[in-house]
Amino acid sequence: MKYPALIINREKLETNINIIQGLFKERALSFCAVTKCFCAKPEILDIYYKTGIREFADSRIENLKKINYNDVTRWLLRLPMLSEVEDVVRYSDISLNSELQTVAALSECALRLGKKHKIILMIDVGDLREGVLPEDALNTAGEMLKHKGIEFYGVGVNFNCFGGIIPTTKNVSIVTSLALEISKKYGIEVPIISGGNSGSMHFLTENTMPAGVNNLRLGEVIFFGRETSYQKLIESSLPASRQTMHEDVFTLKAQIIELKQKPSVPIGEAGLNAFGEKVVFEDKGEMLRAIIACGRQDVDIEKIKAIDEEIDIIGQSSDHIILDLTRCKKKYKVGDIIDFSISYGSLLSLSTSEYVNVLIT
Ligand SMILES: *Cc1c(COP(=O)(O)O)cnc(C)c1O
Repeated sequence: MKYPALIINREKLETNINIIQGLFKERALSFCAVTKCFCAKPEILDIYYKTGIREFADSRIENLKKINYNDVTRWLLRLPMLSEVEDVVRYSDISLNSELQTVAALSECALRLGKKHKIILMIDVGDLREGVLPEDALNTAGEMLKHKGIEFYGVGVNFNCFGGIIPTTKNVSIVTSLALEISKKYGIEVPIISGGNSGSMHFLTENTMPAGVNNLRLGEVIFFGRETSYQKLIESSLPASRQTMHEDVFTLKAQIIELKQKPSVPIGEAGLNAFGEKVVFEDKGEMLRAIIACGRQDVDIEKIKAIDEEIDIIGQSSDHIILDLTRCKKKYKVGDIIDFSISYGSLLSLSTSEYVNVLIT
């Protein structure tokens, strides 16, 4: 086995996907599975596909290209760059949009390639990342409808991201009302109202989904089992087989390369650390210190937790993480593997590090 390793428990991931699928099916809603936090790695995609997922979404074209099943729909989540319009039309079926200039370019390219590209108009109701402001939505939709190479496929909204704003009945209803207005004014169907990401899952579990919303875009909740507005763990709603989602689909494993009794405070004149920071150390006397082969290039120690609760993480440099094993009952030795639980932020960086070995068990 090669370390550091990111281990994925297949059974737990399948259970999580099944629970989410059940919740959506019972309510006749749809979701697309967001693959950006694991860079659309083929072995994980395969689990999604075999579990029946047919709608995939990613923020990067590079990842959408990897999703090459014949019978799936691919959403581009990040607003397209003008410089990637042709790839957007080729490798995605649906893209989220807020700029007329971009939609014009997508339309022109789609016509040239003999395709029709679907667009979702993003409306910003306060998180202040992408989207037109509500007062501009009606006119923008009208302008987008003039382009013959695109199909106006719906409206969408995003929360819990830049501004950390929580979706509520009130702010989501702004979007559903606008969808209705667009439909009336232009005499068109608005097939999709996409009401957010994992932060909108509480609407589903509490049965308070604002009327009209028929889709969510889900990444984090599938891996970590919690809706991200109030961090509540999600359960399947079938009383016969009530089951909660797993929070520990992933485990990070790293190997001890040095284990020594050393002082807790560095010795000598104190300058800056490897990252130009001044670090202050508390004097705890001698401690049993372990170095594991995994570093800031792979993961931020603030976003991982050792599964052995007697291990304290004390710091890191580019390629090393330093642990304090003084309190541990277990007698560790060089070569031993230390397990960590991870979070969304660490999944993102571990997936992008080419040094991390991804393994499914
Ligand atoms: C990343 C992203 C999502 C998925 O968010 P999660 O919190 O992981 O569910 C949904 N929509 C957009 C536009 C995104 O960028």
